[in-house]
Amino acid sequence: MSIAAVVFDLDDTLHDKSATLRLFALQQYDRYTLRQHGVGERDWLARYVALHTELLPKPAVFLALGQGFGLPAELVDTLATDFDHRLGLHAVPFPGARELVHEARAAGALTALLSNGRDAFQRSKLAGLGLASAFDVVLTSGAAGTRKPAATLFEALFCQLAALRPGLRPADVAIVGDSLAHDIRPARTQGWTTLWKSPLTDASADFSSPQLLQIHHHLIPLIRPTTPQEYRYG
Ligand SMILES: [Mg+2]
Repeated sequence: MSIAAVVFDLDDTLHDKSATLRLFALQQYDRYTLRQHGVGERDWLARYVALHTELLPKPAVFLALGQGFGLPAELVDTLATDFDHRLGLHAVPFPGARELVHEARAAGALTALLSNGRDAFQRSKLAGLGLASAFDVVLTSGAAGTRKPAATLFEALFCQLAALRPGLRPADVAIVGDSLAHDIRPARTQGWTTLWKSPLTDASADFSSPQLLQIHHHLIPLIRPTTPQEYRYG
């Protein structure tokens, strides 16, 4: 087995979403002096993280926070806008995330990001993580108009990678992701190698570990940059 392109999921794979949410919840609490509105810091943090984890649309999250804590409507709008504009800048990476992406590329692999979410928002997280220029291809559901696990999204990404490296085969592509349903199973259907960021195992995952460091040790030695010549004569 050899790998010539590595596709990464973003949230809960490279990006420690719950750490970022906790950090940002407390920042907003301080910056918008929510204590003066009678909001308790612990209650705010707990409700903030719980609502964002429910994967509601962001306006619904802030509406619910505003109603729950009795905040004025203008303040709720301000908090929601601030979230969109600034959360990405404070994105917290998992230990080893940057090293994994950079070393995959340094070893000769193409690197790609495949993420469900609004395009500008997901890209702002990449900037905050220090990974803005670490990928050869960035494909978000917001830009593509279709979400993982749609096969068309995986196929579109493969086409973009193959355009950069003619002769690339599905078997040369690996994916690193935390979601069995959104990352691992649809990638396996494409014939890609699958690395599941999880403490569990599954028949559709070629390797699994909850630690990026373990995934790093498994993945990097598999990377062999391929050239069109190898396919032409090989
Ligand atoms: Mg994820």
